[in-house]
Amino acid sequence: MLKLDNVHTYYGAIQALNGVSVEVNKGEIVTLIGANGAGKTTLLMTVCGNPHARSGVITFEGRDITRADTHQIMRSGIAVSPEGRRVFKDLTVEENLMMGGFFANRVQMQQGLGHVYELFPRLKERAQQRAGTMSGGEQQMLAIGRALMTRPSLLLLDEPTLGLAPLIIAQIFDIIRTIRDQGVTVFLVEQNANKALQVADRGYVLENGRVVMHDTGANLLVNADVRKAYLGA
Ligand code: ATP
Repeated sequence: MLKLDNVHTYYGAIQALNGVSVEVNKGEIVTLIGANGAGKTTLLMTVCGNPHARSGVITFEGRDITRADTHQIMRSGIAVSPEGRRVFKDLTVEENLMMGGFFANRVQMQQGLGHVYELFPRLKERAQQRAGTMSGGEQQMLAIGRALMTRPSLLLLDEPTLGLAPLIIAQIFDIIRTIRDQGVTVFLVEQNANKALQVADRGYVLENGRVVMHDTGANLLVNADVRKAYLGA
């Protein structure tokens, strides 16, 4: 579904991705783990065309999107819930969701809202609440809900559990499973490697802009190097 082949990404002279190859197949949850600064966010954002890869090829459903504009990529069925949530704090929950569906017509907008409210009853209850007054976990749900408004086939999630309490983290991972079960493929960047590998079909380990290991989530969970470096064992 999504394929990165030998992708190199730079910020000016700084190289952030150094020959990354990753595949995400339809129906999977694939996770990308790695230390701070390994290049995880850069990888997700390179898929979104911001920044563009300097070399290498990215294809989505067989189409080359390496040089496509971000808005074209978003229209092709990819949605992203960015690191730090970035909800519009002064807008209500519902207004935030409508921003996510900005290119939908009225019918699609209502369908999107119905779908998101079904998945997140809490957001429906709080539809008229200002987003900035929601808890961290609720804001995360809103960020995911907003991404789902375009009814994507591939959802990119950047650190959805960062800074959240354990109970909420468990809820977010349950939601990620539900989203996948509803037919959305998930590419998940996580610092919480333990939980991410438990939920993921497959995982990639990124170090200094390179993929150093990839395997099933179950195999990576018991891998001695992964345990030592990322699972605190
Ligand atoms: P974290 O878990 O801390 O978010 P990460 O694995 O997501 O880290 P990136 O944010 O992708 O890592 O950063 C990879 C490298 O690229 C780092 O060295 C970072 O300093 C650099 N970098 C990221 N964004 C920029 C930018 N806008 N300009 C210059 N360098 C950047």
